[in-house]
Formats: sequence, structure tokens, C-alpha cells
Amino acid sequence: MSEYCNKCSPFKNQHDIDLVKIALKLKKGYSTNFICEGCNNRAVYKDDQGLLYLAKSVKGEIELHLTTIEQFM
Ligand SMILES: [Zn+2]
Repeated sequence: MSEYCNKCSPFKNQHDIDLVKIALKLKKGYSTNFICEGCNNRAVYKDDQGLLYLAKSVKGEIELHLTTIEQFM
């Protein structure tokens, strides 16, 4: 079964990976990995200061992008 995150799900209000929920549950210094079939988002990471990063897979390399929870909504 394909899994989509809430940023790219083709199904209205239906998604398997909720980035907001993941970000809220995440403890500082931890990351949660997932595989979205629809986009290159691969993980959410929260650093020691509580800053959020989105890990994207770009040409086989993981890139970390500083982000905010608002951008997950
Ligand atoms: Zn996605």
C-alpha cells in the first residue's frame, strides 16, 4: 500500500503520514523517518533547541531543511 504525507496526499483529508502529528510528538534531539510515495520528504528532525528540520531525499542524498510546524499544516 502506498503511503502519502499530508503535504502531497492525492486523497482529500486522507493521509498516512501526518507531519504535524510527528512534529508535535517528537522529542528534542530525535528524528522520525518515513517514506512518502508522493514526494521526497523522508524524515522530521527536531534539534536540541527545538528547531524543526525536514529531511528530503534529493538525488539519493538526504538534505536537511530548517522549517516550522506551520509549514507542515
Ligand atoms: Zn509527501
